[in-house]
Amino acid sequence: MIKTDIIIIGAGPVGLFTVFEAGLLKLKSHLIDSLPQAGGQCSEIYPKKPIYDIPGFPTILAGELVNNLMEQAAPFKPGFTLGEAAVSIEKSKDNLFIVTTEKGTVHEAPIVIIAGGLGVFEPRKPPIQNLSQFEDNGIEYIIKDPEFYRDKRCVISGGGDSALDWAFFLVDEKIANKVTLVHRSSSFRGHLDSVQKIINLAEDKKLDLITEAEVIGIEGDGKLERLVIEHQTKGLQTIETDHFIPLFGLKPSLGPIANWGFEIEKNAIVVNPKDYSTNIPGIYAVGDVNAYENKLKLILCGFHEGTMAVQSAFARIHPDKKNILKYTTVNGIQGF
Ligand SMILES: Cc1cc2nc3c(=O)[nH]c(=O)nc-3n(C[C@H](O)[C@H](O)[C@H](O)COP(=O)(O)OP(=O)(O)OC[C@H]3O[C@@H](n4cnc5c(N)ncnc54)[C@H](O)[C@@H]3O)c2cc1C
Repeated sequence: MIKTDIIIIGAGPVGLFTVFEAGLLKLKSHLIDSLPQAGGQCSEIYPKKPIYDIPGFPTILAGELVNNLMEQAAPFKPGFTLGEAAVSIEKSKDNLFIVTTEKGTVHEAPIVIIAGGLGVFEPRKPPIQNLSQFEDNGIEYIIKDPEFYRDKRCVISGGGDSALDWAFFLVDEKIANKVTLVHRSSSFRGHLDSVQKIINLAEDKKLDLITEAEVIGIEGDGKLERLVIEHQTKGLQTIETDHFIPLFGLKPSLGPIANWGFEIEKNAIVVNPKDYSTNIPGIYAVGDVNAYENKLKLILCGFHEGTMAVQSAFARIHPDKKNILKYTTVNGIQGF
């Protein structure tokens, strides 16, 4: 049994910063995340993309932001249960919360802060029969590190910003040996500017653009070797490739949290914007996972919400103690 002051479900940027703010109030945190690493969407979806709206950082890569948040939280020695989804929550007879993961790890604390973001998210996959056989053997749904594709032949599929931006990046940075972009329509959902860049690359013969076509078959002995593409007018075509990267977006789903008795609105937990408390006393929800009037799903808003939630949590844990706001410039960081 892991005992702490605050169980934080979700080790995304907001969960990580909440550890720091809790630490300033001398409250110890333990984070649970279903992913094998901390960082949430920043690590899983766009670690190499620059973010431009983190105060004090004119530009910072999402992966660097996560590293910095980990460093900032480190003095407060957070615990981590990674690679395990939190599946149930109960009350003990001492009125503490017991949170259990899918692998049976049990955590106990007087306060729970849900920083579950989009929840447990799944990529949208193309309906190809033997797809799962090649997952991680040539098929990836997220580009985590473009270097993985160095000198490789890549087929990207999709018509949104993610597909267009990555196809452009892999060609423009001279990373992949060959890039083919397959899209089922002749028009794209991505930004006009991104579409134009792709058309220019195709005209310069630096990228193969195949429109009005879909990947319908995957072939290979143990790992991906060839894709079968069906054109709406020209029939079938087989192309040799090392990687197939369908970028059709992610399906957000709250997952197990949806059944824990919270008031839910549009796949998010309704909170009181005074302190981001939920309808269950002692449980808060911060970051992308919560809903209130004028909510903005931005990292900086999540940082504020985590800060306010731990102030309220402090008052619940220590009803007889007065908490006076102290500047870090005056007090420094008193780690654990
Ligand atoms: C491509 C892209 C670009 C973006 N650019 C910007 C930008 O420029 N600026 C900006 O401010 N925002 C940007 N965002 C949005 C930003 O990433 C999110 O607002 C931010 O990640 C929210 O942080 P979070 O900690 O609330 O949630 P998340 O980052 O989603 O992390 C939540 C974590 O909770 C975990 N989790 C969920 N349910 C469970 C469970 N039951 N058990 C265990 N773990 C669970 C998930 O695995 C996940 O790791 C962008 C998003 C995307 C996709």
